[in-house]
Order: sequence, then structure tokens, then C-alpha cells
Amino acid sequence: MSKNAELFERAQRSIPGGVNSPVRAFRSVGGTPRFLTRAQGAYTWDADGKQYVDYVGSWGPAILGHAHPEVVEAVQRAALDGLSFGAPTEREIEMAELLIGLLPSIEMVRLVSSGTEATMSAIRLARGFTGRDAIVKFEGCYHGHADSLLVKAGSGLLTFGNPSSGGVPADFAKHTLVLDYNSIPALEECFAARGSEIACVIIEPVAGNMNLVRPSQAYMDRLRALCTEHGVVLIFDEVMTGFRVGLQGVQGLYNITPDLTTLGKIIGGGMPVGAFGGKREIMEKIAPLGTVYQAGTLSGSPVAVAAGLATLRLIRQPGFYEALSARTAAFAAGIASAAAKHGVAFSAQAVGAMFGLYFSPALPQSFADVMASDRERFNRFFHLMLEAGHYLAPSAFEAGFVSAAHSDTDIAATLAAAEDAFRQL
Ligand code: PMP
Repeated sequence: MSKNAELFERAQRSIPGGVNSPVRAFRSVGGTPRFLTRAQGAYTWDADGKQYVDYVGSWGPAILGHAHPEVVEAVQRAALDGLSFGAPTEREIEMAELLIGLLPSIEMVRLVSSGTEATMSAIRLARGFTGRDAIVKFEGCYHGHADSLLVKAGSGLLTFGNPSSGGVPADFAKHTLVLDYNSIPALEECFAARGSEIACVIIEPVAGNMNLVRPSQAYMDRLRALCTEHGVVLIFDEVMTGFRVGLQGVQGLYNITPDLTTLGKIIGGGMPVGAFGGKREIMEKIAPLGTVYQAGTLSGSPVAVAAGLATLRLIRQPGFYEALSARTAAFAAGIASAAAKHGVAFSAQAVGAMFGLYFSPALPQSFADVMASDRERFNRFFHLMLEAGHYLAPSAFEAGFVSAAHSDTDIAATLAAAEDAFRQL
């Protein structure tokens, strides 16, 4: 028995499903999850000593590649000064000032320890600010696991065919209005009927949790205008896209100013950091200034923030996103042409350093388009790639990530493996 299989068997005896986050379990693609022992640059190694070129990147944070020496050193240095104080530090101000400098929509920001905390807090804040209860989200978007957001969600919920979580009271879920993503008529209808009841709209401004879906500029402009018109707080959930699609996030790409932004993943450089921030007028409603409560024992952890600061320092270097985006675009184009060569109905696209691979002939514009893709074929492709040493996200409904550590040689090796896989499909 392989060491991975042995560990999986053992894990399932003490941990539900053998994992601490559902998508890790390989439930939808089948087979044995790889228990990783080490990650460096573009590579990971599993318990059997097999090496992979990694396109998951810890689900987004590892934009510099794994264990970048400068980030590791920052963590080591910070750890020597103490792991956690529960008191403010200068480093947190530095992080706040940096985020405010990079994302003009953010006038004030608070640090938390995960993306879930960021979105949960942003929604409470929007409700407290507006005095309204209803929120709008979009089918297939995932915003972490707070109760009101686990309605028709993406990521693992979509992967396992259970898009609305158990354990969420109907009385609670009824305040979550769920709309079709990237549909202007659905937006207009909802705002016309209930605009004055809506506290906020939360959106993945480029979706990455139902695979990658890119909304139209017209849609995003309409969304911004409707929120302004109805006094609705517009929340861009950039936990995944922030510093992934570019230095200014999706808000920079589409030139839209959200009222609040949520961040996570990259801003922690692989350590637990999330953030929510935006208009001063809204942010001042948070305790201790205002009545909306939000707190955290480990919020602004000195070690985690040090990792984030080191990461943000490196990705601000001139040309960083140009090079990384070009490499990711070349990867998406290369994989699509490999599929075409073997007559596989397939398409691919990149936005900055994230990509979507679709077993369908055209790029998806909606949740329904994504659902129409060939999931079985994805699963077979996934396993062929894994066997060949290329680790893609274990679900047809997740975006993928390229890091600055992926060399042209790594990408070429993955494209060669993909071509081989398409030939076998
Ligand atoms: N929002 C988005 C857009 C995400 O992709 C995720 C995680 N994949 C979250 C929120 C939740 O973040 P976390 O897993 O850190 O709680």
C-alpha cells in the first residue's frame, strides 16, 4: 500500500473525510488524496516522495511559489520576537497603509485571520451600516463558510452537489437572495423589486469558485450603478483575485470602486491573514468606533503579517504581473491548442495569474455554461495529469494558479503531459 493510501486510511479514522477542508479529499475526482510533505517553488512532494508541478498553490496564496526564501526569513525573524501579543503592532499599520496605497477603494482596513472572517465581517458591517437585512449573492460564488453565504455556493459545495449547506436555519437563509451571475436582467429585476431592502451585494468580481468565469464590463458597470442608486453596499470579494489578477485586483481591471473589499490568501503569503476594508464612513461603524462588533484573538498575528508584508514587497516589483500574466496566458493558450490537436472539446483562459480549464468548446459566460461542461472527462484528465506529476485542483469547478516560480521549462513539461493526456482521453 502506498504511504498516501496508508495515511488516508488512518486520517479517516480521526478526521471527518480524512481532511480539514472538504475539497482536499478528492471526493469528486475519486482516488487517494496526496498527503504533502514539502513544497518549494513550483513543486510539491507527497508522502511517497513523488514530485509534482503544482497549479493549486495552496488554493491561491503561493503567488511567489512555495516557501520563498524572503518570506520564510521574514517569518523566522518575526517568530523570534514572539508569536502573538493580542496587542497592536507597528507591522499591522504597515500592512494597512500598504493595502490602502495599493487599492484606492480602501480608506480603512481591518485584518482578520481568514477569507471567511473577512466576508462574514463585511456582511455584518454592511447590514449594520444600512440597517437592512437582505443580502445578494450569485449562484456558484463562494465566499467562505459563514451561514448567510452558504446558499447556492461554489467550490466544495458545488463539487459535492450540495450547494446549500445543512445547519443553516431557513429563517437565516431567507435573507440571502441568490441571482444568476453575469445576468443584467436578473440584477435589474431584483433591484426593482427589493432594492430598498438590500444591505449589500457580495460578488466574486471574477469568479474562481465555479471554475473561472469572467463577467462582462457592462454587467459590472450596471451592478455598480444599481448599488449606488439604491444605497446598497457593493462588496468585492477579492480573497482569491486580490493581487492574483494584478496589483489592483479586479477593481483595477474593470475600473470599478467597490464600497468594501475582502482580501485573504496572497496578503498572508501562506499564513492566515484576511482583511476587509473600504469607505471610511462604513468602516467607522466597527467596534470600538461603532456598534458593529468584530474581533479576533489572533487578528493581525505578527508572524502572519510579516509573511504577508514580505510577499507584498516582492509582488510590487516592476514587471512582476506582466511576466506572470504572460506566462499564465501562454499556459492557457498552450493547453487549449494541445486539446485541439486531439479533437477534444475544450477551452481555456487566463486572467492575470489565474486560469480556467473547461471541457466544453466555448468559454463559459454563466454558471449554467460551467455546469454544462464534461465533468467525467475532467476527472480522467485530472488523474492522467496527476500520474504524470502535474497537480491541478481536484475539481472541475475550481480555477488554477500559476506562480512566479513556474519556469518556462515547468510550463512546457505540463503542456507536454497535457497533450499526452488529451491523446489518451
Ligand atoms: N472568498 C473567496 C472568493 C474564496 O475563494 C475563499 C476561499 N477559497 C474565501 C472567500 C474563504 O476564504 P478562507 O478559505 O480563507 O476562509
